Amino acid sequence: MKENAIDTKAVHGIKASYIKSNDLVPPIHMTSTFKFNNAAQGDKLFRGEEDGFIYTRISNPTITLLEEKIACLENGESAIATASGMAAISSVIMSLLKPEENFISCTTVYGGTFALFNNHAKKYKIQARFIAPSKSRSVKDIKKMITEDTRLLYIETPSNPTLDIIDIKLWADIAKQAGIYLVVDNTFASPYLQAPLELGAHIVVHSATKYIGGHGDLIGGLITGDKKTMDLIREEYVYHFGPTMSPFNAWLILRGMKTLCVRMEKHCDNAMKIALWLDSHPKVKKVYYPGLESHCGHNTAKAQMKKYGGMVAFEVKGGVQAGRNIMNRVRLCALAVSLGDCETLIQHPASMTHATYSKKEREKAGISDGLIRLSVGLENPDDIINDLKQAMEKI
Ligand code: PLP
Repeated sequence: MKENAIDTKAVHGIKASYIKSNDLVPPIHMTSTFKFNNAAQGDKLFRGEEDGFIYTRISNPTITLLEEKIACLENGESAIATASGMAAISSVIMSLLKPEENFISCTTVYGGTFALFNNHAKKYKIQARFIAPSKSRSVKDIKKMITEDTRLLYIETPSNPTLDIIDIKLWADIAKQAGIYLVVDNTFASPYLQAPLELGAHIVVHSATKYIGGHGDLIGGLITGDKKTMDLIREEYVYHFGPTMSPFNAWLILRGMKTLCVRMEKHCDNAMKIALWLDSHPKVKKVYYPGLESHCGHNTAKAQMKKYGGMVAFEVKGGVQAGRNIMNRVRLCALAVSLGDCETLIQHPASMTHATYSKKEREKAGISDGLIRLSVGLENPDDIINDLKQAMEKI
């Protein structure tokens, strides 16, 4: 039988033999530990000679259900749910690299990811080498940076906050030739818009806090890929460093996932409308949205994404102060970090999400001081436009 499409898979549950009830919506298994039938069974479970649940840091039916669901949506063999997107990213780095090894990352990534790579990984003698997005299209440049101690390539596409588009297949081919992993942060696209594993990536990470959860009411992360790599990440890091997700958050994410595809359609349509409106506004200097034909990554985005996402960035004439005035004057849009929520959020990357970059590092990453980032929500797009219009009238 033909496999179901992603919007069907997002709605229908996984057939989980480990959840015994017949509820349409599976219950939350809010328990830290699980009872053994007898001492011999406990012994077998610990030895891995019998399948079952032992302790929620290791596994839990609600969390396992979520892991199976994201693996199903991303076409991975296995997955790991973590307490946050940063826990997902750090679990991958800390489990797959040893001291004195290195990895190559695109320069423009979420500010927390940049801080982890640029500052904290160093403490463990793990080196991050950065390549600017403009350069990243050159295969020769990336290959030159790979040494025998390079273990993985790491990309975010579309990137936070500049919406750079990186050719996943191109990077996957380079990783394959070098015998190393390609890790893709798929947070901005979500599994509905982009399937990195099908394009040759080995590992996908998500901040489930964003589109996958979709309602701004939780923090969570997800990792998916082949079973061997997922087992390695669990054994080398997750089991004993303990970045485990709460069963309650897993349940909320499972609930959010059911409407992921319909929400993404509306986020994308709204964002396209707003990007076009901004692009024609006399006070706007530049719009960053991969759906615009003028965007340098438009053709790659068209090839590897279903639509262009719900994130739009822009610069207004009048620089930082004019941008701040807009953020202070909006009434419908909320002045807040994070993204992928039902509400439209507006924020200033240079002083907020990307304050972990120095001014020089931001310049290298193409994050201008005047850049404003919008996470376009699910409101009527005309209302969002009217709000931006009234905020911009006064600048
Ligand atoms: N990846 C991207 C692209 C993000 O935007 C974020 C957070 O904004 C993260 C990862 C980190 O996720 P979390 O805040 O869930 O730790």
